[in-house]
Amino acid sequence: MSTIAFIGLGNMGAPMAENLLKAGFSVQVFDLVKEAVDQLADKGAVASDSIEQAVKGAQTVITMLPAGEHVRAVYLGDHSGGVGLLNLIEENTFLIDSSTIDPESARIVAAQAASKGFEFVDSPVSGGVAGAKAGTLTFIVGGTDSAFSKAEQILKHMGKNIFHAGKAGDGQMGKICNNLMLGILMSGTCEALNLGIDNGLDPKVLSNIMLQSSGRNWALELYNPCPGVMDNAPASNQFQPGFMSKLMLKDLGLGLDAAAKSQSSVPMGALARNLYAFHNANGNEELDFSSLFEFYQSKK
Ligand code: NAD
Repeated sequence: MSTIAFIGLGNMGAPMAENLLKAGFSVQVFDLVKEAVDQLADKGAVASDSIEQAVKGAQTVITMLPAGEHVRAVYLGDHSGGVGLLNLIEENTFLIDSSTIDPESARIVAAQAASKGFEFVDSPVSGGVAGAKAGTLTFIVGGTDSAFSKAEQILKHMGKNIFHAGKAGDGQMGKICNNLMLGILMSGTCEALNLGIDNGLDPKVLSNIMLQSSGRNWALELYNPCPGVMDNAPASNQFQPGFMSKLMLKDLGLGLDAAAKSQSSVPMGALARNLYAFHNANGNEELDFSSLFEFYQSKK
């Protein structure tokens, strides 16, 4: 099996890298947080102290970073001395970025990579930490046909559904549309559950009713935001992430930015974005995004 450099070992990156190890790849890992690197090394990965060390000898590089600024810095370099991995990798190295970022940054990195002879795909994911651990993520890929075929051979070890959304950056656009809807669905799910509780309903009973009715959705089915309804959801674990509220705010902002460019109407997305902005300003940005439930309960 070939060698993969994996950069960004947070809530998502760590279990994704672990699945590559289980599939038999040699995985060279790097994160700014040393403990994250050490935890992967305990599971069989090769620990690296720098991006330069991580990409040395790797045939594929995968990045799983918070936002566009981090992805541009890691690939292209920054003002604090980072030279950018496009200047460090060996000939024919294949590049996959699975972070959720703005399509423009993905297209800039893809173009810079192509100008140096490298293939790059944007390949954001859906499915959350549970999907990352189970290896059942959905990948939404942007890039050429040949890059997509290469990406599939790696991504299939971390996910179940792999879609080719279109050209470079289109994977990000698909993901942004999905998360705009997720932000709206999570807000609506919190709102409906809280309305039921305020009017004397048991949230478990109400959840079951809505799961078998037309209000059924992903948040309700797999990620119930009311504590105690679903044992393995972040809501039943003090809202430990999972998917941090600050990342949802970022994604809804990406949706609004895209809408401004295409002059699309996104009134529900704008409302969801503002709900998350209020919620995060109240000190919740590092909690799971389902903690928005507490926003509705704050009068108690
Ligand atoms: P996270 O904040 O837990 O992890 C990001 C990691 O990147 C951190 O460990 C951080 O130290 C590291 N990092 C930042 N800059 C770095 C650099 N220059 N070099 C090396 N490492 C660096 O975030 P996450 O939840 O793992 O999400 C990662 C991406 O995936 C985000 O774009 C997010 O929007 C997206 N996403 C998350 C989820 C989820 O459920 N958590 C689901 C789908 C998509």
